[in-house]
Amino acid sequence: MMKDAVYLDKSKKKYKGNLHTHTTWSDGSQEAPEVVAAFKAKGYDFISITDHDVYARTADYDTDSFIVLPGMERGGLNLVPDEDPGYHFGVLDDPTMRSEKERFHHLQSFEVPIPWEGPQSPQKLIDEMKAHGNLVIFNHPEWHLTRFEDMVQYDGFFAVEIYNHATEWTPSSSYGAAYWDHALQNGKRVFGIAADDSHEHDPNSKIAEYGGGWVSVEAEELTQQGIIAALKNGQFYSSSGPEIFDYRVEDGFVHVECSPCQYIMFKAFPLRGPFLVERETGELMTSGSMKIKQGMAYIRVECVDENGRIAWSNPIFVADLAEGE
Ligand SMILES: [Zn+2]
Ligand SMILES: [Zn+2]
Repeated sequence: MMKDAVYLDKSKKKYKGNLHTHTTWSDGSQEAPEVVAAFKAKGYDFISITDHDVYARTADYDTDSFIVLPGMERGGLNLVPDEDPGYHFGVLDDPTMRSEKERFHHLQSFEVPIPWEGPQSPQKLIDEMKAHGNLVIFNHPEWHLTRFEDMVQYDGFFAVEIYNHATEWTPSSSYGAAYWDHALQNGKRVFGIAADDSHEHDPNSKIAEYGGGWVSVEAEELTQQGIIAALKNGQFYSSSGPEIFDYRVEDGFVHVECSPCQYIMFKAFPLRGPFLVERETGELMTSGSMKIKQGMAYIRVECVDENGRIAWSNPIFVADLAEGE
């Protein structure tokens, strides 16, 4: 027998946030107050300002209904001797993490570039960011064309950026879910994060840089502690459009409820799950289920709307459902 588990509960409040955005503190074209105003106007509950190699830690923009999480984006050069950074990590302050070293302060800046000293360089950076009390996100691996075999050598990142909106409207390299699966297939318990990575706000652009990829977090409260705790537990989904309301395991089945979608795809490893399509009934779907089979290691769900936009659930690790633990 298998335990029941609730991953997302439709009766609980979810908070919308963008964990990757830039301002004039690095190479963004908009100042922090304008960036904050843009996300507030779009109904976001929180953002993290993640400028390149400069830390943001400010409560200046916090209200009862909006917070800014302390964070940064940090990168280094890859093995090809050019000036293009080879890896970028999202860095997010975790107030509950025991910090061996001092926490980064507001507008603290860091020396760049970090030279490539072999595959230990990215790992050194991850370890360093964690030692200062931060969670680490593996940012836009597809944009950097990170090699799968390199990525799985690294440990300690809690999530992979699986959708990066800014690279969607420049060269199309925004989808990183294949990297996520590769990490999961290699035994890493990592979550998937969709984000904007917005650098500028051009109102004349056909595709806006703001509001294209986000996380929806089922937190107890809108505080840094609340959001970070829920992120670490995987109590969130990522999206470039559709919503996931409910996601649970009951009586050996995975159930998902979503906003109207054309496809609901169950991605199970190593046994491929089914995918449900609307053409079977001629109507968009708002729910789907799949029986969990013996031998499946993890299962995640993608709900795809009529415009091809996606909501990604986090993985269910089937071993966690074993009875008698
Ligand atoms: Zn980046
Ligand atoms: Zn960025």
